[in-house]
Amino acid sequence: MDNVVRLRARLVIPVATSTIADGVVTIRNGSIAEVAACSDRDGVLDLGNVAILPGLVNAHTHLEFSDLARPLGHSGAPLVDWIRDVIAQRVDRGDERRVEAAIQAGLDECVRTGTTTIGEIATDGWRGVSPYRAAVRATAFRELRGMSPERVETARAAAEEHLAEDGRRSWRPGLSPHAPYSVADALVDEAVALSASRGAPLAMHLAESLEEIEFMRTRGGAFRTLLDDLRAWHAAALAPECAPIDYLRRLAGASRALVVHGNYLDAESLEFLAAHAERMALVYCPRTHAYFGHPVHPAAELLRRGGVVALGTDSRASNPDLDMWAELRFAAQHHPDLRPQDVLQMATLGGAKALGLAESIGSLLGGRRADLTVVATTGRAIGDVEQLVASDDTRVVATIVDGALRFVDRDWGETLGEQARRWIAPSM
Ligand SMILES: [Zn+2]
Repeated sequence: MDNVVRLRARLVIPVATSTIADGVVTIRNGSIAEVAACSDRDGVLDLGNVAILPGLVNAHTHLEFSDLARPLGHSGAPLVDWIRDVIAQRVDRGDERRVEAAIQAGLDECVRTGTTTIGEIATDGWRGVSPYRAAVRATAFRELRGMSPERVETARAAAEEHLAEDGRRSWRPGLSPHAPYSVADALVDEAVALSASRGAPLAMHLAESLEEIEFMRTRGGAFRTLLDDLRAWHAAALAPECAPIDYLRRLAGASRALVVHGNYLDAESLEFLAAHAERMALVYCPRTHAYFGHPVHPAAELLRRGGVVALGTDSRASNPDLDMWAELRFAAQHHPDLRPQDVLQMATLGGAKALGLAESIGSLLGGRRADLTVVATTGRAIGDVEQLVASDDTRVVATIVDGALRFVDRDWGETLGEQARRWIAPSM
């Protein structure tokens, strides 16, 4: 027998189509059957003064740091100093069990704060996560690093091993050549070739700091000093000089590429991303961007050119939490160049497009999977998208993946009517 649930909300925001005041989302067997105005309340579960939106997509996380109580280093620190802190932190913990526990804590935090899909940079700890059913949809991009031929070979083998998990796990494998200062040209090419032949998405940090741009141009500066200190510098591993656009041209050979950060991408690079919007997207991490004190991010500029922008929290090593609703609100409040609707789009459909999942998630359309985030306000009635996204008194009260409740706020649940309470009861 079909499992049908009809959820009514003061505001239903499909993102891909117009917002509906007093709308109903009908879920059948884990998929969205219909989204429409509420015409009759028979058999409808009334969720009250809430907005239903597509499940939030956190396109960039490193959950291995989810047990950190506060970010590493200090706000405004040079990125290279922060990376030294991250390396020390990794050495410090060592124990793979601890990393697994941090990843699990991160998955739990994501689902509690409205995220239904993540793009995760995976290190060894993900091997331990595999037996669990991830509460959210995850694309696990295997982190690849290495400059020397030996390290490149080890990373290549790790990439093959990771991709071999396709279809065997609750998560989908992808690859992540880490960044221009940590990956040999040969390893980027290997990753791109594997991505193209296996259809696996690829994510790479790019143009995050001015020091990185300087390293590309001169092979000197703070990143060169870091590599020398780590005895990781191999002159033969990299072209004598390059620029972000050179990496973009190479990443365009992947089946799909997420360019992470891009804080210092120039007009030519943005134009390239826009021209390749079918398969390339930029991931903007607003609070991490602010933590390092970078100038205004080019997200709005890329949208204007027709490119795809997704949002990410990055990790708790540079962000106080993994709360995507807080991330979205921060972006809306700090970007006069972006409309709240644009920010919401980036956090849902933009992320789905970036990950190549827009046919199944990211918007509330008939036939899509029923991944929903429910947001409530304390106090006044929900008015429109602008108010919802930008105001301080909103919070996620429920997270639904494949039509199943994965999180319910207990206090909010108590306020619902009898029928709706009965539906959420097993999850409370
Ligand atoms: Zn990152």
